Amino acid sequence: MLVVGAGCAGMRAAIEAFDAGADVGVVSKLHPTRSHSGAAEGGINAALGNSAEDSPETHAFDTVKGSDYLGDQDAIEIFTREAPGDIYQLEHWGAVFSRNAEGKLAQRPFGAAGSPRTVFAADITGHVLIHVLYEQVMKRMALDPARMTVYEEFFAWKLVTDGTRCTGVICWNLLQGGLVQIGATATILATGGAGRIYRTTTNAYACTGDGMAMALHAGLPLKDMEFMQFHPTTMYPSGILLTEGCRGEGAYLINKEGERFMARYAPNALELASRDVVSRSEQTEIDEGRGINGSVLLDMRHLGAEKILTRLPGSRELAMTYAGVDPIYAPVPVRPGAHYHMGGVETDEWGRTELEGLYAAGEVACVSVHGANRLGGNSLMETITFGRRSGRHAAEWATGRRGAPEASSNGALADAERELGTLLDRQTGERPWQIREELGSSMLENFGVFRRGEQMERQIEIIDGLRRRYRNVVVEDKGSVFNNDLTQTIELGFSLDLAACMLQAGLARRESRGAHSRPHDFPARDDENFLKHSITRWRDGGPVLSYKEVRMTRWEPTERKY
Ligand SMILES: Cc1cc2nc3c(=O)[nH]c(=O)nc-3n(C[C@H](O)[C@H](O)[C@H](O)COP(=O)(O)OP(=O)(O)OC[C@H]3O[C@@H](n4cnc5c(N)ncnc54)[C@H](O)[C@@H]3O)c2cc1C
Repeated sequence: MLVVGAGCAGMRAAIEAFDAGADVGVVSKLHPTRSHSGAAEGGINAALGNSAEDSPETHAFDTVKGSDYLGDQDAIEIFTREAPGDIYQLEHWGAVFSRNAEGKLAQRPFGAAGSPRTVFAADITGHVLIHVLYEQVMKRMALDPARMTVYEEFFAWKLVTDGTRCTGVICWNLLQGGLVQIGATATILATGGAGRIYRTTTNAYACTGDGMAMALHAGLPLKDMEFMQFHPTTMYPSGILLTEGCRGEGAYLINKEGERFMARYAPNALELASRDVVSRSEQTEIDEGRGINGSVLLDMRHLGAEKILTRLPGSRELAMTYAGVDPIYAPVPVRPGAHYHMGGVETDEWGRTELEGLYAAGEVACVSVHGANRLGGNSLMETITFGRRSGRHAAEWATGRRGAPEASSNGALADAERELGTLLDRQTGERPWQIREELGSSMLENFGVFRRGEQMERQIEIIDGLRRRYRNVVVEDKGSVFNNDLTQTIELGFSLDLAACMLQAGLARRESRGAHSRPHDFPARDDENFLKHSITRWRDGGPVLSYKEVRMTRWEPTERKY
């Protein structure tokens, strides 16, 4: 079986599949440890109850409420029940989590959490996890090289199907050039998020939504694509993240008058309200003239040097390098930035998609645990818990089919070669970078923290125009070795199609829920008409929208108060 993507979700899936007896191949356009999971800072949520009383039920309720009731409650209950075991597994594999005075795993408060439940390794949690998982992958490669292979720097471009099931992927070999088809009985997409659709984002250049677009183009449904989370503390001007862990450790948000403005928006939770609430509050301060250079300030001075140096050393370094500010002595300018895609490839609680043999896990997938708004710390946990679950199910399915006849690929490789030839043979046309720039800045302008009907309509026209121009882009580099010009052009095509899906679903959602906020025309949540998932399919070169019920177990929607 094949795992596409080697971040936390992909590697956790690969480890589990190997342990369940499958022969595993992992394809990644980056070296695994360069995957964007490594940038995660603040921590990973599980109800261990080490700092205060906690339980999986409380974690589930917080997640449901944080999702603005759009999360699927059966998936959320599985998630919060299995998370503690997954944390201990990581710890036994060598994850060096920070500890409290009793020697137990320390847990810090995060936004909208009813108890301090975020396990962390200072503020480099993702870095620690990605290295621990890579070690486990390498261990298995050493144990049985025939059963675990990592295809580093292979760019997956298309899913292959035989009409009824997924039979593998077509990849571009980044090091040597050329298309290759890798066949697999089961395939798990774990290609991460799509933040690069926006110009200002916390996401790396690699986060272009490839897996979502590949699934969409293979006829699969994407779920809840209108929900892009804006993180409240991204630095001005770079967009680089300062973790929610800063506020978890007690940092304040202040406006240009030095006022702790969250007291007006969320009098109880203050800076630890959920991300959608804090981002909207900041944006309101900025829009009403109480910001500085389009930012507000994150103030850590009162935490003291010792706490900053032990709990938040990475954040201090980032602030000094990218904002020129040492948070021990001065507040750091921050503003909301595109951060996390709550939507993605629709899966069930085992990572199964609608297409037999195809699974998805991690940020590319929509299980849906996060609904309309993700709680900080829940995404790393999702990559691990649902990475493991999809790895297990896919392995059992694939090993159960050993000896079955090879599936036909219907000439998919020849079709892909022709399409690539057309792109590379084009000698004149527009360069892709200008289109990418216009997509990123217009998305920020017209589909950001606050959304208006007429702006979304305009953005749909802009995206249509960009997609028309994209049909004539020219790839100037015709070479084989590390042809970034080619792969970035393909990534741009993916991002454009996903943006079209996001806008169509956003305009149609005539309510405000979680990260989708329409204060001017539809300021309230409308459970009667919109307590439902949006489902987007690709038909005749464009998105087509439908809806699906939210799965509820025990929590009826109530008003969110902070
Ligand atoms: C700066 C930052 C900090 C964060 N901090 C936290 C935190 O503290 N806690 C938390 O819970 N969440 C956090 N998040 C969110 C969380 O880190 C991510 O959602 C999560 O790590 C995504 O993991 P993933 O495995 O799904 O994808 P990734 O780690 O992004 O991995 C994607 C993989 O897919 C591969 N890939 C992509 N496209 C292709 C292709 N076409 N062909 C082949 N391979 C491909 C890549 O090479 C990579 O290996 C943070 C996010 C950011 C951006």
